[in-house]
Amino acid sequence: MNNVKEIIPNNFNLPERISRLGEFAYNLWWVWNPETQRVFSWIQPTLWERVNHNPVMFLKKVASERLQAATEDEEYLAHYDQAIEQFDRYMANGDTWCANEAGEVNKGQIAYFSFEFGLHESVPVYAGGLGILSGDHLKEASDLGLPLVGVGFIYQQGYFTQTITEDGWQETRNYYLNFEEMPIIPLLDADDNPVEISVMLSDHVVWARLWKMQVGRVSLYLLDSNLDQNSPVDRQLTARLYSNDLEVRISQEILLGIGGVHALRRLGLYPTVWHMNEGHSAFLGLERACEIIKQSGVSFKEAAEEVRKTNVFTTHTPVPAGNDQFPVWLVEKYFYNYWSQLGLSRDDFIQLACHEQPWGETFSMPVLALRLSEYANGVSKLHGQVSRKMWHFLWPEKEEQDVPISHVTNGVHNGSWLARRTRVLFDNYLGEDWMEHIDDIAMWDKVLDIPDEELWAIRRHLKRKLTMFANRRVRRQWLSNTVHPVQVIAGGAMLEPYSLTIGFARRFATYKRGYLIFRDFDRLLRIINDEDRPVQIIFAGKAHPADEPGKMLIQQVYRAVKDAKTGGRLVFLEDYDMNVARYLVQGVDVWLNTPRRPNEASGTSGMKAAMNGALNFSIMDGWWYEGYNGHNGWAIGDGTEYADHNQQDDADAEVLYNVLENEIIPLYYSGRLGDSMSRGWMEMVKESIRTLSPQFSMSRMVKEYTRNFYQPAAGEKK
Ligand SMILES: *Cc1c(COP(=O)(O)O)cnc(C)c1O
Repeated sequence: MNNVKEIIPNNFNLPERISRLGEFAYNLWWVWNPETQRVFSWIQPTLWERVNHNPVMFLKKVASERLQAATEDEEYLAHYDQAIEQFDRYMANGDTWCANEAGEVNKGQIAYFSFEFGLHESVPVYAGGLGILSGDHLKEASDLGLPLVGVGFIYQQGYFTQTITEDGWQETRNYYLNFEEMPIIPLLDADDNPVEISVMLSDHVVWARLWKMQVGRVSLYLLDSNLDQNSPVDRQLTARLYSNDLEVRISQEILLGIGGVHALRRLGLYPTVWHMNEGHSAFLGLERACEIIKQSGVSFKEAAEEVRKTNVFTTHTPVPAGNDQFPVWLVEKYFYNYWSQLGLSRDDFIQLACHEQPWGETFSMPVLALRLSEYANGVSKLHGQVSRKMWHFLWPEKEEQDVPISHVTNGVHNGSWLARRTRVLFDNYLGEDWMEHIDDIAMWDKVLDIPDEELWAIRRHLKRKLTMFANRRVRRQWLSNTVHPVQVIAGGAMLEPYSLTIGFARRFATYKRGYLIFRDFDRLLRIINDEDRPVQIIFAGKAHPADEPGKMLIQQVYRAVKDAKTGGRLVFLEDYDMNVARYLVQGVDVWLNTPRRPNEASGTSGMKAAMNGALNFSIMDGWWYEGYNGHNGWAIGDGTEYADHNQQDDADAEVLYNVLENEIIPLYYSGRLGDSMSRGWMEMVKESIRTLSPQFSMSRMVKEYTRNFYQPAAGEKK
């Protein structure tokens, strides 16, 4: 079946002494090993920035004299040799957590399906939180030694770049990715032709070729429909993320769910556990049932029962209307020749995923996924409750609390989000091997041993780096002569390196309420412009191109940011991506989040901020409902949900201002001299790092998925 070659296109003309750089470029392991990143950046730091930290593009563009110089630099070579040694040790290590703790899982394979994977800014095929969660999941699976393979799309166009006009309107630029300049490996057959799979789309066949991205020890297989033999429309199926066109959407989901199963088979892979991250890939359950029916002639009911036992489904959407669903006529158009293969009638087939909505019957992907999965979960404790309530109608015979949807609270991959300097600090105080015990709560007590002064110095350093990053960007814009001067200020030209700095960065969707802090603008101006205790707030985030209210929200924020009365202390950083996110979560003092409860299923950016020593200030929603302990940040409100949105906004804004004025600002500036260190602040920072780092680590999360779902699905006794 397989006969598949992967040939790393390592054609960089590297000097022999450093030839393994080519291999590094094609394994994203370096992304979470900052010392190894330096084997690239060292050679030419400015180029490394210009190529957006893309090692393949970097090696294609770097001048050969620079490479030659590196081979003559003893310090560089020592660094290089050490990175190679670490990498080889990592890749060869069989003594992993999974091998030791989850033997049955270790013998098989887990397939992990997601519409988007956010691994690094140089592979911009993610839109936001869902993708970054998938990316972090893969990195952690690699670290823990889980035999996991990812399945997704490589989009021809990266998720759009955002610029903001002088009037605050979001403009989007789409661009084509050059796959030859990306860390993706083409898969070839015995005759050196691309490995391809096909699916039926309504009345015709669509082909997709397969690429592979290597993420440490984990492989991510990516489908690409941009092939000559496909029609122009079908070639566009993997053109971009989240189309609003329902025909495109259902075709994409067929390609991912059904095509993804075909892809794994083509590669000779027979996973023992199948994990659907969100409902987009739920058709995989049907295709697996179809395989069983073809092989053994059993009924759909029996086949589905077998499939169910090894399917895991994670839902992320707390709002019924936000869930992926299709009109019934569209499903008929695409599946009229499929339900008979399952031995089902049209009605039985539609009934599998039917969700009655106020506007009529729909075919719901989460309903399909829930029906075909033994294991289902929301992504925080609160979201688990919300999900059980939302999907209760599927189990009318059960009490709400017995609806079989549990929760695994999200986490973030510490190695990917921690600042390098903070990692070194932890190496010194938590013990050399602290990264192997990230989810060990007791280990984190050692944070209390870190001297305040050292931690404070790093916090200041990271805030200065953030300021300089914003400065560099607006200087480039100013030089390019494409922006109005006020945009240079709005983009952060006047940021100060040592003022109390608050970050607010996330997708601009209305439920996230980016406007909340502007509810009483005069009061906000008094807060930020206090000369003795200034406060600056940095905003960032994209709105989906079709989300008009989201774009209007950005405009509202941007108009306020531009106002001379803010003294340049409010800033909007354009084009939020993983790179901007790292600067922000590492550099700010306070991470603000103001969703309308209970709409934030989990949220993860606050976790990234916490582990770096920022303090969270958030609505009691999503992860913060679990994370907040009264001493490790601040809560907005007590979790009351108002029926009247206006009333809720008023109440939440009032608390927001009060806590800022009476608690956050006085505590930060309680050092005797201006911005000198506040002991009280440092105490809270340590409490936040100590309590939140293990609890919201990807390590805790993936181990929980393994114990609760992967192990039983793989037939392992607890
Ligand atoms: C972490 C992250 C997100 C998700 O953050 P939320 O808190 O869930 O909104 C979105 N985009 C980027 C670039 C991120 O790094």
